[in-house]
Amino acid sequence: MKIRSLFILSLFWLCEVTAQTDSSIIAQMYRTALTKGQSYQMLEQLAGGIGGRLSGSPQSYKAVAWGKKVMEKWGFDSVWLQPCMVPHWVRGAKEECSVKYSKGKLFTSEKLRICALGGSMATPKEGITAEIVMVDSVSELAKLGEAKVKGKIVFFSRPMDRAKITTFEAYGGAVDQRYSGPSEAAQYGAVGTIVRSMDIGISDYPHTGTMKYNDSFPKVPCGAISTQAAEDLMKILKTDPHAKLYMKMNCKTLPDTLSYNVVGEIRGSEKPEEIICVGGHLDSWDNGDGAHDDGAGCVHSIEAVRLFKALGIRPKRTIRAVLFMNEENGVRGGNKYAELAKLNNEKHIVAIESDGGGHVPKGFGMSGASEEQMKKFMEFAKLFQPYHVYEFTNHGGGTDIGPLREQGVPQMGFIPDSQRYFDLHHTEIDIMKNVNRRELELGSATIGAMLYLLSEYGL
Ligand SMILES: [Zn+2]
Repeated sequence: MKIRSLFILSLFWLCEVTAQTDSSIIAQMYRTALTKGQSYQMLEQLAGGIGGRLSGSPQSYKAVAWGKKVMEKWGFDSVWLQPCMVPHWVRGAKEECSVKYSKGKLFTSEKLRICALGGSMATPKEGITAEIVMVDSVSELAKLGEAKVKGKIVFFSRPMDRAKITTFEAYGGAVDQRYSGPSEAAQYGAVGTIVRSMDIGISDYPHTGTMKYNDSFPKVPCGAISTQAAEDLMKILKTDPHAKLYMKMNCKTLPDTLSYNVVGEIRGSEKPEEIICVGGHLDSWDNGDGAHDDGAGCVHSIEAVRLFKALGIRPKRTIRAVLFMNEENGVRGGNKYAELAKLNNEKHIVAIESDGGGHVPKGFGMSGASEEQMKKFMEFAKLFQPYHVYEFTNHGGGTDIGPLREQGVPQMGFIPDSQRYFDLHHTEIDIMKNVNRRELELGSATIGAMLYLLSEYGL
């Protein structure tokens, strides 16, 4: 055999061996996560034990202390807190909402399930009562203008598009009504707004979420009603267009307060200066216990790094788990993380986020990568096939890692199955009981495997 072919053969053999080593390490990661995993137990402590953790709440501080303690317990090389100021909004006593309308000659009243949107102001003590203007979009609202809107409560009624296969797309197509609807309505003199919840189905759980007031217009109270309540209200308005809505909300915005991101890492053995970070957000809405959004992402991240410890693997590059504070109503934690990364001249080769819940893993999406990086990413995909993880796309990221984009860091989003996510997102049923242990553990293993490949080969 010629030397050249011998060389090619040995190179081929080497590649085979590496591929075998990689696949066997990945197999060990899945096995460990599924048989001796800690994801579910950690989530029981965080979501089940501590509960909903809105920024500034007592639970959010408990969550910070918890995150630091567990990462120290798993023996990460270093664990630290990054202080950042966060908004502090409180919901107050339970909201009330009802509609009064005429049924033939009789007046009748029906209760509607509502929750205040995060950041909303309160109604006056006696609540607000006004006629309702139903619109399916901000542009329809603009057409009606002040003549039809002044003194009324605007009801944004457009549902999420059920035909979309990726429910996040359906969410993206409807959420403007929640986020900017209140100020859009206030500019025409509305006294309050309600929005059909961002729920892909019909249920009686109102979904909260953040909104933003435009300082150029008056501030009005705003809430979300359940999709069932929205359906009922639409029918009522057909029979009585002069039906009156009553809403009462008791929320309040307190001064900003100090909180923290929690960061823990294992230093790389060969290229410690190259950082791969993976994170979820530690804060959650207050109505459930934030088990899926985003307790799952937090424990995915911790567990993915812990698997290296459990298997005695020293990563070649530094791997870092980040529990971001305040994703839900400000992204102050994500901004602070990027600011410090820049200040400290850190070199992130990629940032990964898990913020789509704890359902069955399907893959990863990546944005902001070069053609070469994308090619490498697609090469990794093959190693995930035995785990039925097939979705590798050129679109992905996360809200908390978003601010790193300015520094040229490629953004990778972990993709779990999204079909059931918007049944519970931001509701009282986003709770531990609705997390499937096996699905959660598979997610941690999938992220662990991706961390392993990135730490071995870079991007
Ligand atoms: Zn989230």
